[in-house]
Amino acid sequence: MTRSRLQTIRCASLLTPAGWRRDCVIRLNEEGRIESIVDDSTATAELILTGLVIPGIPNLHSHAHQRAIVGLTEHRAADHDDFWGWREMMYRANAAINPDQLQDIARYLYIEMLRQGYTSVTEFHYLHHQPNGLPYQNPAEMSERLIAAADEAGIAIALLPVLYCRGGFQDEPLQATQKRFFHTTDDYLQLLQQCQSLCANHPDRSIGIAAHSLRAASPSDIQAVIEQAGPALSSAPVHIHIAEQIKEVENCLQVNGARPVDWLFDSCDVSERWCLIHAIHISEAERSLIAKNGATVGLCPTTEANLGDGIFPAAEFLDEGGIIGIGSDSQISVSPIQELRLLEYAQRLRLRKRMVLTPSDGGSNGRHLLEASVTGGRRAQGERLDGIAPGARGDLIEIASDRIEYETLTEDQTLDTWIFSSAANAVRNVIVGGVQVVKDFDHAGSRTAAEALRGALSTLPRTLSS
Ligand SMILES: [Zn+2]
Repeated sequence: MTRSRLQTIRCASLLTPAGWRRDCVIRLNEEGRIESIVDDSTATAELILTGLVIPGIPNLHSHAHQRAIVGLTEHRAADHDDFWGWREMMYRANAAINPDQLQDIARYLYIEMLRQGYTSVTEFHYLHHQPNGLPYQNPAEMSERLIAAADEAGIAIALLPVLYCRGGFQDEPLQATQKRFFHTTDDYLQLLQQCQSLCANHPDRSIGIAAHSLRAASPSDIQAVIEQAGPALSSAPVHIHIAEQIKEVENCLQVNGARPVDWLFDSCDVSERWCLIHAIHISEAERSLIAKNGATVGLCPTTEANLGDGIFPAAEFLDEGGIIGIGSDSQISVSPIQELRLLEYAQRLRLRKRMVLTPSDGGSNGRHLLEASVTGGRRAQGERLDGIAPGARGDLIEIASDRIEYETLTEDQTLDTWIFSSAANAVRNVIVGGVQVVKDFDHAGSRTAAEALRGALSTLPRTLSS
């Protein structure tokens, strides 16, 4: 879908890495990247934003298909209900999703993300094959549907085709419900190349490498894939689910004599390219290892709470200079402010303190959380620039600061109120790569996407039991 990219946007109040700037104009190039920011309150501009303009938030971890089971798993399915029972229900629901349905679900989901302030989505995609496990005629069919959905919604996508080879640490066979995920490393590399060519030379698409987990792919397979991925992917991001559940840490210790993060670092060259999703159950030594090597930790606090995963030691990790970002994962929430709020609150409850994730030199907690998640989210997508600055993609959101609850507040206080207190959505305008995709709280494709979602869900199971 072609949309015209803005070249000039005037902002009354703009958050840059150096702080708030008043009355300035952002100039963008033809690819939607920021060329310059100049002080000017009089210049004509194609778009004038009078609220607070802040960086769009990257969503660093999403499984689009899981949007289909939101609301279907909130009942007790067994005496001891946990992540593993939820996973069985999710697998059963997945079994039926076809390419058209995936595209309809993802399109609606991505529009919702945009309306809440995410401007890019990192799609950790493992629903590759037909329900019987055979590849589609086009092996990248499902990947292409996700790219098409992102394109229709107008969200930037970092696509991560996921390597999934086995059913457990001891090379257990896959369950019938996992056969849609399977690749040999050779087949996976072919898919990766196909997806890479779909994303090349497109300003709103990028590609990365992913392994589902150490349960599903051995470190030697992961290392082999990274080494054989070719020059175009030599610096691409690498993602993996790493230590979400105690049971997988215990299994890993039992089988391999090492905890997952230790085992990964022993076998792979874990660097700034890496994003470790749900690095929750880690030792102090593992925590320091991650921080020292510059890998991003991907946190999805609402999903982690919903699935009873546990709480990542974020306060200690940030004290060590660690980098974090946020994602919507199971889509139980697609609101970045809910993720940031719960991220901070879980630490306060754990440590019985306030202002846990703010640096000791003070400043706004909300602004710090926002900036940290933008930096971490972009690194997880292979981008290195902080905030709204020349070179960065023109991903911007405007907070409607003219509301009564914000009227007497400074910019930082408005951000704190938005993140910690707002109930109604305050994201008025959203721009992705210089394209305005949400205008005055509305997305032009919302109604059509809702109709398509209704159609898709009506043909999928609407009750699940484990
Ligand atoms: Zn995940």
